[in-house]
Amino acid sequence: MILRIAFGFFVVFILISSVLMQKTVSVNLLILLGSCLLLSILFENRIPRIRVLQIALLGIFHWVSHLNWCIDLYLLLTAKTYQTRKVGRTVAVSVFLALLYSSIRLSYSEHTLYTFLVTLFDLLGFVIIVLMVHYFQTAKREKQLLQQENTHLATHDLLTELLNFQEFHKQLQQLLKRKKRVALLLIDCIDLKSMNNEQGFESGDRILKKTAEVLQQIFHDARLLARYGGDKFAVALYAEDTSNQIQNRIELLVNEFPKKLQIEITYGYAVYPDEGESKDELLLLTEERLFTMKREIWLRREEHMLRSEKLRLIGELAAGMAHEIRNPLTTVRGFLQIAKEKNYNIEPWYEVIMGEITRISELTGEFLQFSKPHVSNFKVQPLQECIQRVIDLMKSEAVLLGHQIEHEFELDPIYILMDRDKIVQLLINLIKNAFEAMEENGVVFIRLYRVGSLGTIEIQDTGPGIPQEHLDQIFHPFFTTKKTGTGLGLSICHKIVQDHGGTIDLESSPKGTTFRVTCPAVHGSGM
Ligand code: ADP
Ligand code: MG
Repeated sequence: MILRIAFGFFVVFILISSVLMQKTVSVNLLILLGSCLLLSILFENRIPRIRVLQIALLGIFHWVSHLNWCIDLYLLLTAKTYQTRKVGRTVAVSVFLALLYSSIRLSYSEHTLYTFLVTLFDLLGFVIIVLMVHYFQTAKREKQLLQQENTHLATHDLLTELLNFQEFHKQLQQLLKRKKRVALLLIDCIDLKSMNNEQGFESGDRILKKTAEVLQQIFHDARLLARYGGDKFAVALYAEDTSNQIQNRIELLVNEFPKKLQIEITYGYAVYPDEGESKDELLLLTEERLFTMKREIWLRREEHMLRSEKLRLIGELAAGMAHEIRNPLTTVRGFLQIAKEKNYNIEPWYEVIMGEITRISELTGEFLQFSKPHVSNFKVQPLQECIQRVIDLMKSEAVLLGHQIEHEFELDPIYILMDRDKIVQLLINLIKNAFEAMEENGVVFIRLYRVGSLGTIEIQDTGPGIPQEHLDQIFHPFFTTKKTGTGLGLSICHKIVQDHGGTIDLESSPKGTTFRVTCPAVHGSGM
């Protein structure tokens, strides 16, 4: 536009100047040519071919005006033909125009060395101007591109190319100003975090990208589509009377995701202005709905997990038990077969058979401890008394094995709500383990003390300790390192402590092991 105005201005200026300075060959012809030139500028957009005519008109106008100032008109024509992508062509046009200008100029001026040198100079001037324009144009374009890229980076998520969180908020605010019904949908991919942990970030990123693609397909008419941080996405779309359709599309989404991407999604959805009258209200409601759905899914999964964990435990126990009983049964069966061959005289194997049967009944007896109802005989009693009884019970066995039992009790009685028989059984199990762990002449220390509202019993031995690799298994049912062990002792201890609302832990080193049982104490002297 500016070029066209400048061109028109120069035509009129040169025309008047030429007439005033009486340079022109013919005033009338000059006015006619000038008018034609002006007209050609007016129509050049509508009739592109007119440009060729323009050059011819300019040439004649130049010659009739006899003014070198026409050079500006040539330059303006060159500038108008300038195109960034076709610099070579523009240079060619400019050289052509420069030659045209020079030859016309030479036709009415004297042929001196000076005019020839000026011609050469003009020629160079044309090319330099084209190249300079080119340089500035390219720089400007690059700057524009860079700016575009910068704004894109600041407003979009790099991975999915969707809007980012801040930009979504900004644009949603503007969208709501238009006073149309808008549906807002928040979507969360629930298993993505665990997938990231298991399969690495690349697969998580791949899924996020795919999610963005699927969303773009299903919500192709969305006004806004954003990665709402982490593995959350947001969609905003006009919801004139089509809420049903939106619901359908959400259902499609919920079905498509597990199929296409092997992940489940949760979502929350609310409509402006029906359910929320401002951006914040709308977002809050949507987030709330998303969270409710997420919670429901968590609860359902947890329930499922608990159920399968229980089943797993029962399975483990049953398998262990079957295995433990099968061994002595096989022995007994073997002896009975031999007995049949030797006319049923089981006399020589009586002891062995009886031993195996005793073991089976011991095992089943111990095993039953697990299934006994856990609240049976709970009373508030002092721990001191209970431990003293256990020490009395174990004394003879200690002497027999060559061990010593030492104890150290806090003087104030520590009362505990307990099933006394169970606590006795717990302590006997722990002391027996200690005896069995020590070779000869070992010492078992039993300590009892109170820490705040907790009573703690420690049973320490001078045995070889428990190897690191066994530590996380010793409470598992049937784990044993002994030839004739059942592996049930510690798991029963664990259950008893649990039934009393306490905890059991241990410290072990090659110099000995300490089991520590802690139970909540009751104030006062009991009931
Ligand atoms: P069991 O005594 O029948 O082997 P437990 O459940 O009582 O079964 O113990 C499991 C295992 O834990 C034992 O076989 C033993 O290896 C280890 N253990 C338990 N108590 C001690 C201890 N005081 N010192 C060393 N090892 C122990
Ligand atoms: Mg044991």
